Amino acid sequence: MQGGTQLEVPGRYYDGMTSRAHRVVLRVQDGQACLEGEVQRREPLAQVRVSERTAHAPRKLTFADEACFEPDERAPLEALLQATGHRDGAVVRMQQSWRAVVTAFGALLLVLAVGYLYVLPAGAALVARMLPVSVERQLGQGLLGVLDRRVFDPTKLTAARRAALTQAFAHMAPPRDGAPPYQLVFRHSRIGPNAFALPSGDIVLTDQLVELLEDDQAVLATLAHELGHLHERHLTRRLIQGSVVAAAGTVLFGDASSLVAGLPALALDLRYSREAEQEADDYAAAMLRRNGIGLAHLERLFTTLQKLEDSIGTPPPYLASHPPSAERLERLRRQLR
Ligand SMILES: [Zn+2]
Repeated sequence: MQGGTQLEVPGRYYDGMTSRAHRVVLRVQDGQACLEGEVQRREPLAQVRVSERTAHAPRKLTFADEACFEPDERAPLEALLQATGHRDGAVVRMQQSWRAVVTAFGALLLVLAVGYLYVLPAGAALVARMLPVSVERQLGQGLLGVLDRRVFDPTKLTAARRAALTQAFAHMAPPRDGAPPYQLVFRHSRIGPNAFALPSGDIVLTDQLVELLEDDQAVLATLAHELGHLHERHLTRRLIQGSVVAAAGTVLFGDASSLVAGLPALALDLRYSREAEQEADDYAAAMLRRNGIGLAHLERLFTTLQKLEDSIGTPPPYLASHPPSAERLERLRRQLR
């Protein structure tokens, strides 16, 4: 409360020592609470506590010596409080902390940004390693189901052709121990040449990519690259990262649809980091070397993709998800030298 007003509030005064009620009228004058009636008392407003508003009891004023004033009715006191500019403690605290809230929100954004750039990739790798295989499997199977409905038709490759590719890749030793179990999944694609590995261990290969490459050992190089993604759990990491961002969006903006809707699109329009692609390329190169297959076949993959990129203006999703082939080729050639 502050200042003064003509308003009067009839009520009872208790001296804090006996239970006797004294009839008084409360006024505010010159920054002081003035009681008149059976008791006369003046106190600076700063030394009077006003209890907070509750649904049940009227407010009361308490003095430093624990004496207190209780109004007969709640309305006149509320009017007096309002007229003298009284603010509830909670409101005052909130207004004081508003600056703190803004600061904290800024700090939160900073933490999110830093987390997105630096902590999230590391965290995603950690979570990916801890994630039970069964969960990854479900994640991948769910994705394959969505993709089958949206962009894939059954493969048109002959059973013999599929068996030949499957066996040839099965006979190749991975470049290092601990390669994850995988299965090749052949599909006819409505979106062109494509190959990618799902967290379930499904390595999806489209008919169009097999036909485009012609060279079967280049197909094996492609599969080795995808096995590399699988071994490094790149997609799982990427999905976790993407989900965390969507989940953060859900928390911040209260919209869960992006979290659910985002997964298949994320799998299709996947953009691995350049490091992830280089890891997979190196993995493929090491796998070919280990199995006595010339790196020329990996080169064949890159040059074929480069030609495709040149012939069509906009790259299909698989190509969009990979660094420019010329760059990968250049990198591979540096290694060959
Ligand atoms: Zn890749």
